[in-house]
Amino acid sequence: MPKGRIIVVEDEPAIRRGVVDALRLTGYEVSEAADGAIGQQLAVQANVDLVLLDLLLPRKDGLEVLAEIRRVCPTRPVIILTARGTEEDRVRGLKMGADDYVVKPFSARELLARVEAVLRRTLPREPDVRIIKIGKGTIDLSRREIRWPAADRQELSETEALLLQYLVGNRTRAVSREELLTRVWGVDAQGLETRTVDMHIARLRAKLKEFTCEESPEAIITVRSHGYMAGPGLCVPVEKVT
Ligand code: CA
Repeated sequence: MPKGRIIVVEDEPAIRRGVVDALRLTGYEVSEAADGAIGQQLAVQANVDLVLLDLLLPRKDGLEVLAEIRRVCPTRPVIILTARGTEEDRVRGLKMGADDYVVKPFSARELLARVEAVLRRTLPREPDVRIIKIGKGTIDLSRREIRWPAADRQELSETEALLLQYLVGNRTRAVSREELLTRVWGVDAQGLETRTVDMHIARLRAKLKEFTCEESPEAIITVRSHGYMAGPGLCVPVEKVT
């Protein structure tokens, strides 16, 4: 099992090679990019644990890439790789939400220590939610079905199950449509119709509606001009979290 997946965005071949080799030797799975445009595509993909980001890059500036990562994946850890004497960029990067920085030239040991420290600090991932309670019903995500004592089972599509799992797994915050597209559909959100998300949410709400009793609160909340959030109507039984 790899220790985690890291994206390395660095245009200087010798530095990139050194960083990639050091990470792979330590057990990380690594994908690399030599310019900002490709780097950004990789950095917002699903299943990325950390991004190492150079700032002076061809095709797209590192700070622009950072802004896009923050927009799509607000909590994704990013470490900036910076040259000596570019304090201003470094400060801007940290203000824009980078987690840490390393000044070139750096040793493999120093870099690995920073990577591990940031990964440790990053909140542990939510355990995969399998069972959700809704009113008197139960949503079983592994079987993709909603069970209700007094009625037949209702099936969920794969996308609906993944949407629910992602919303409930991140239930302490609102999730943007772009993030849902990236994380649930696994596609680069740019240029894609975010209406796709709205349509699926509408269908999901319709399915959940008959399972909520009149007094039970909303299952999915719309967060205006941002996206969606798991509502108080969905609850994860503690003993069933695996
Ligand atoms: Ca560079």
